[in-house]
Amino acid sequence: EKLIRAIASNPELTPVQKNTTIQGLRDSVWKSNMRLHKKKRKIEEEERAGVGVGNGGEDVKGDGGESTAGGIATDLTMSNIHEATATATLARRSKRMTPPASYYKKNRHGKIELVWSSESSSTKFSLDDLSVPLFSASELAPTFHDGATGAVLGCPHYARACKLRHPSSGRLYTCRLCCEQEREMPMKDQDSPLDRYAVTEVFCMRCGALQPASDRCISPKCESQGKPFSKYSCNICNLYDDGPNKNIYHCPFCNVCRSGKGLGVDYRHCMRCNACVSLADDTHHCIPQSLQGNCPICHESMFQSTEPLRGLKCGHVMHLSCFTMYMRAQSYTCPLCKKSIEDMKDYFALLDAAIRMQPMPAAYSATVSDIYCQDCGKRGKVPYHFVGCKCSYCGSYNTREMGRLEG
Ligand SMILES: [Zn+2]
Ligand SMILES: [Zn+2]
Ligand SMILES: [Zn+2]
Ligand SMILES: [Zn+2]
Ligand SMILES: [Zn+2]
Ligand SMILES: [Zn+2]
Ligand SMILES: [Zn+2]
Ligand SMILES: [Zn+2]
Repeated sequence: EKLIRAIASNPELTPVQKNTTIQGLRDSVWKSNMRLHKKKRKIEEEERAGVGVGNGGEDVKGDGGESTAGGIATDLTMSNIHEATATATLARRSKRMTPPASYYKKNRHGKIELVWSSESSSTKFSLDDLSVPLFSASELAPTFHDGATGAVLGCPHYARACKLRHPSSGRLYTCRLCCEQEREMPMKDQDSPLDRYAVTEVFCMRCGALQPASDRCISPKCESQGKPFSKYSCNICNLYDDGPNKNIYHCPFCNVCRSGKGLGVDYRHCMRCNACVSLADDTHHCIPQSLQGNCPICHESMFQSTEPLRGLKCGHVMHLSCFTMYMRAQSYTCPLCKKSIEDMKDYFALLDAAIRMQPMPAAYSATVSDIYCQDCGKRGKVPYHFVGCKCSYCGSYNTREMGRLEG
C-alpha cells in the first residue's frame, strides 16, 4: 500500500501509467495471497488425513454405520484407545440408534428380499445381529426441496423422494452436494466426499425403506405406489431429479449427468477437450493446448491437476476454485489476454444505467477519451466518464484509456 501511494503521488507518471502500475501491483499481491492460501489449505488437508489414521483404528473398521451397542462396548474395553477418542465415539454413535422402517437387500443370487422390518419380527435379521444399519433421527427425517412449505421432497439442490447412503460412512444424505455442504462445516468426524458412482443403497423418504439403488421404491406398502423417486434418474451417477422444467442427459464420455436435452440434440461431446459443448456454440475453442501450461492464478500445473477447471470466454483456462476467488476479488478480465472473463452483458448494463443517472459535470462535457477495447481490439474516441468508457464497436467497458483530450 505504501508503494501504491508513492506511485500515485509521483508527478512524473501520467494518470494512465499510474493506474496500470497500481493495478499490476494489486494483481501480484493478490496472486501471492492466493498461493499462500492454497499452501495453507494443502497443509490443513494433510494434517486432517494424519489425524484420521491415528484415530484408534476407526478407519480400518469403516466408521460403524452398521455397529450397534455391542460395538461400543468392545471399543470402550480396548485399552489402546485414548479415553477422549472413546468418549467422542460413544457420543457420536449414541445418536445413531434408529433402524430404518424396513431394509431390503440383494441376496447372494442377486434377488432383492426384505431382511428387516420394524413391523414384523419374522424377518431374516434382528436388531441385535449387527446387520441392520442404524441412523440418527435427522438422517431418517424427510427433507424438502421447497423449504418450509414441505410439499416437495428433496433438498435445496434437487427435488427427489429418496436419500443416498454414503458408500463409505453409511450415513444418509439427500444428495451429494448436501454431503459437500456438511463437509464445509468444522466437525470432528467429517465424512469423505460422497462418491456418486459408488452409491448402492437409497432410502425412500415416503416409507422409510432402505433398499438397493433403483429408480423407484421397492416396498409394496409404500405410498408412492410404484411411482419413481423422480422424473429423471441415472443409474450410473445415482442422480435423481424431479425438477419440472429441467432436461438432463448422461454423457458417457464425460461420465456425468449434464443439463440439456441430449447429445446430438443440443449438445455434442468434444473429444479433444473431453467436454460437452453446446451445439449452438460455433465459437468453441478447444482447450488442450491451453491446458499444457500452468494455472494463471496459482501457477500450478493444470494438466496433472485433478481439481475441476473453468474455461473462460476467451479460451483460457484456470482452476475452478481459482476462478471463484478471482471473481470474488472483482476481477473480470482474463489475467492472460485481458479479455472479459465471461459474458458481461448484465454488468455492462448496470454501468450504462449508472452513467445515465450521473451525467458528467459541464466542465467535462467536451472531454474525450482515446480508448483501446480489450475485448474487440479496436481503438476509438468516446466521451469521457469516470464510471467507465464504453467501446462504441462492441459495447464493452473493458477498455483501456490511452489518452484524454480536454474539450
Ligand atoms: Zn442436496
Ligand atoms: Zn417407499
Ligand atoms: Zn449420469
Ligand atoms: Zn460429454
Ligand atoms: Zn473442443
Ligand atoms: Zn489455479
Ligand atoms: Zn484469456
Ligand atoms: Zn470493443
